Amino acid sequence: MGRGRGVRILSADWVLPVESPPLENGAVAIGDDGRIVAVGSADELGEGERFTDAVILPGFVNAHSHLEYAVYTGFGDGLSFGPWIAVHVERKQRIGIEEMEAIARLGALECLRSGITTVGDASFAGAAATACDELGLRGIVYLEVFGRDESALERFHEIRARVTPALSDRVSLGVSPHAPYTCTLEVYRACAELELPTITHLAESEDETRYLLSGEGPWQDFAELLVPPLRSTGIRGLAEAGLLGPHLVAAHCVQADAEEIALLAAHDVAVAHCPRSNAQLGCGVAPLRDLLDAGVRVGIATDSPASTPSFDMFDEMRAALFAARAREQRPDALSAAEALELATLGGARALRMDDEVGSLAPGKQADLTVLSFAGSPLLPWEDPVTAVVLGGTPERVLATLVSGTTRYERGSDTCHELSAAARHARARLLSRVSP
Ligand SMILES: [Zn+2]
Repeated sequence: MGRGRGVRILSADWVLPVESPPLENGAVAIGDDGRIVAVGSADELGEGERFTDAVILPGFVNAHSHLEYAVYTGFGDGLSFGPWIAVHVERKQRIGIEEMEAIARLGALECLRSGITTVGDASFAGAAATACDELGLRGIVYLEVFGRDESALERFHEIRARVTPALSDRVSLGVSPHAPYTCTLEVYRACAELELPTITHLAESEDETRYLLSGEGPWQDFAELLVPPLRSTGIRGLAEAGLLGPHLVAAHCVQADAEEIALLAAHDVAVAHCPRSNAQLGCGVAPLRDLLDAGVRVGIATDSPASTPSFDMFDEMRAALFAARAREQRPDALSAAEALELATLGGARALRMDDEVGSLAPGKQADLTVLSFAGSPLLPWEDPVTAVVLGGTPERVLATLVSGTTRYERGSDTCHELSAAARHARARLLSRVSP
């Protein structure tokens, strides 16, 4: 069945389609157009390439990343937001576009190594877009915009014109008005007029909310780097200006109260939930359960290694699980199956790509990852979903495929070359000498 010419079959102990129940001794058939032809039992579809003690699952969709900061891990760790951002701004000035590309390539590889096949990436320099494409990752790369008036978009148009000709249809561009404290409503409006997929940082910390409401608090000290306070929270301010909508992904939303969650739901704004970043920066725990119960489209995301140690989606799923249960003080606040769904189909829904990716189903792109549990204490199998969520690591990823093409294989040599180039860029970032 479904086994025509040019069909490649992968099979494993378990296949987790996510949008339907786990299949024991499952198989995925991939057509030569890179799309899934069939998902079913290996007895029916054939064993093809067999992975023993392994699980095949949809590639993760990392709904909010910054590939260009792949080597920024630990920079400014433990500082409050003002000095923290100052460290990043100062160091970023020491490198040029080539180093940014080298860093973003490593970021794309790290994503694939962690089973991520699609990113929603916020990019300062456009380097993430070309790096994504070169490494074979799928994604929307949102070019960042900062400023007080429409002229802020000049830089966006320049980068868009430079980057677009280099991209395949696997990578598309969006726009990212950075946040309501670095962009005025005029800039948000100009971004909205582009009618592109959009991501912005919203309601991340209490200090941010305080600054936006009154111009006061710890952010007063570096107000010259920010736009004037909105005199409203980010979510309410954008809602009142008619700037919320289904094209928008809001990263963080830690501070969202019940009324703001209702606004996000009513305007069909998606949320990129970044629990590790929110914890590391001391921002708090986002109201994930309430967002889901309100019907908001939510994806899990790593944010950037400037605020999380890595692009490890397994760690991110666990953080989402632990944070939700800790916040709600009950173990059923988020199930392992829900965490896996948020990291795959949830992210795809957030980026409005769920007709193409996010689950294993006939007709969708063959974006998947193979995870081995050989030699692990998680065998013999009890529940494969729990095994993936509680026991998955990038080291257990055997292969990651995008559109049926293997883009990462454990032990491959590309890793060393890309790491060396990115390491050189990190040395530049850390040096005291200006380029
Ligand atoms: Zn971010």
